[in-house]
Amino acid sequence: MKYNFSKLFDNTEIILEEFIDKYTSYFQSNQDDTNYDLHMKYYKNIIQMLSREFEEEDLLEQFELFANHKISSGTHYIIITNEINNLKNILINKIDENQTKANFTDLFRLFNNIYNKIASVYLESYAENIKSINNVRIASLSDLMEKKILVHYEAHLVWLSDLADCIKNKTINKFPELNPLTCDFGKWMHEEGKKIIQNNSKYNTIDNLHKSLHLFAKKILDSMFTQEHHVIITYLEKCEMLSLSIGTELALVDNILMNSRVIKDPLTNALNRHNLKNIFKNQYELSLATSNPFIIAMCDLDYFKNLNDTHGHLFGDKILVHFVNVVKRNIRNSDIVVRYGGEEFIIILPAVNKEKAHIVLEKIRKDFYDDILEIDKKPIQHSVSIGFTEIMPQIQYKQHFLDEYLGLADQRLYSAKKNGRNQIEYC
Ligand code: GH3
Ligand code: MG
Ligand code: MG
Repeated sequence: MKYNFSKLFDNTEIILEEFIDKYTSYFQSNQDDTNYDLHMKYYKNIIQMLSREFEEEDLLEQFELFANHKISSGTHYIIITNEINNLKNILINKIDENQTKANFTDLFRLFNNIYNKIASVYLESYAENIKSINNVRIASLSDLMEKKILVHYEAHLVWLSDLADCIKNKTINKFPELNPLTCDFGKWMHEEGKKIIQNNSKYNTIDNLHKSLHLFAKKILDSMFTQEHHVIITYLEKCEMLSLSIGTELALVDNILMNSRVIKDPLTNALNRHNLKNIFKNQYELSLATSNPFIIAMCDLDYFKNLNDTHGHLFGDKILVHFVNVVKRNIRNSDIVVRYGGEEFIIILPAVNKEKAHIVLEKIRKDFYDDILEIDKKPIQHSVSIGFTEIMPQIQYKQHFLDEYLGLADQRLYSAKKNGRNQIEYC
């Protein structure tokens, strides 16, 4: 099909400049930014082609090259289509100025085909990307000491990869199981899983996430028949997000089970330091497999030697027990508290970022400072300093990671002490 919008292009250079300046998301970061030059080159080709008679197929080819460039530089679908929308609006305004009504229909038809082309290119690369990230997630689960219930999350990651594969290769006949009751995960959830996940609210949450996941997969299948690529992108994003949420919830259930199983420190009932290496490695692998950040915090009670010397060792012991109780009443039962040394504790918060962690740890700091213990009705002031760091796993676990991240949290703890104690520092 041939198009001719040449009447709209009185000055191609000005249109190009106006468009690049006002409407594209790319900002030149330095003078010889090759990415920027490439970006300009693609738009120049597109606008030049638009300014004379052209074949639709040739223009779509230009847009395909452009889309591949944008995708390879990590641009999200919404940003790409937003730019193209702006280009379309410039042309619509030009038609308005020129009062050539017949062009509208052509322009809308052409841009619909452009959007569909971009969506199809993006979808193919996104499906491929899901498959390769899923491989990292699955490998990370294989590195766990024991997979236990997470073996069922692994099954759903494989399911998601199969779904991505069908979308990429357009093999509708190989679609993964759509019924949430009969897929491997569904069968487990309604039999053994029901008994293991005793916490009812968690069971309902996971069950609902799983049902929604299958519902969106069904919508993908319907949209594949109608070839609505942009809709499939949105549904596939939903499917990936829901799969990760199922993994996150299962990982939290796994932590709850671990917390009740592992040997405790007899005085405080916090977890024993001997388990720290395995626990940390587990949290790291689970975070990588669910694309979540997690937190490691070092807590050290302030002037504790002084407190022991003034009020006796037994009172010191009482404060240690009190501290762990304060921590536990402020965290989820899937969070972890370990006694690291005498009056030093480690808190691990899975699936939270540093902003959320700061709120939780600040509650602990304040609660411990405010809930004062007494001797002979005389209040004895106590406080804690905390240093923490956020970890966002990107690569497989390495032996030295624990020491490195503990070192970072410890440096922040040192700053908190130096700055006056009874406070939190993080990086
Ligand atoms: P800072 O504010 O710098 O942390 O000062 P601090 O006095 O807390 O630090 P320091 O590390 O010098 O003292 C820690 C004290 O903790 C020394 C030790 O006697 C005491 N401690 C260690 N384990 C226990 C325990 O199990 N029970 C009691 N009551 N005290 C303990
Ligand atoms: Mg200490
Ligand atoms: Mg101390």
